[in-house]
Amino acid sequence: MTIALASLIAVAVVVFVISVRAKDLPQPEPVSPFEHLDERKASIYENLRDLQFEYRVGKLSDQDYQQTKLDLQKELAGVMAEIDRVKAEIAAGKIPVPSPELVKANVVKPSPYICPFCKAEFSQPLKFCGECGKPMKAAQA
Ligand SMILES: [Zn+2]
Repeated sequence: MTIALASLIAVAVVVFVISVRAKDLPQPEPVSPFEHLDERKASIYENLRDLQFEYRVGKLSDQDYQQTKLDLQKELAGVMAEIDRVKAEIAAGKIPVPSPELVKANVVKPSPYICPFCKAEFSQPLKFCGECGKPMKAAQA
């Protein structure tokens, strides 16, 4: 009897954990305007690491190493500048949201659009708060 009860509870706990997980997973994170930039940044960092490694193990000549490193650093600077630009535009309210389809799909209409985390107000629906960067969709009234 006790064993049956215990295993029942165990099953219930497992089911509960799984259902909670499942509930957290289904909506894919809304696309952040920085996402592709962050990805590019990460891949440049990775390339730099690889480059350094190859140089250290002697696969690259000094010149190749310096040249490639310079290219990657230039690219990185470009990505950083782009991130700053996007941030500035978001702060200025110039970029409402990256993908119109996504916006239409989960239009929530809290009016005005207030960040549930930092209470910043926006005149248009944002995926992510322009102030604190957290997802805004929890702002559903
Ligand atoms: Zn916020």
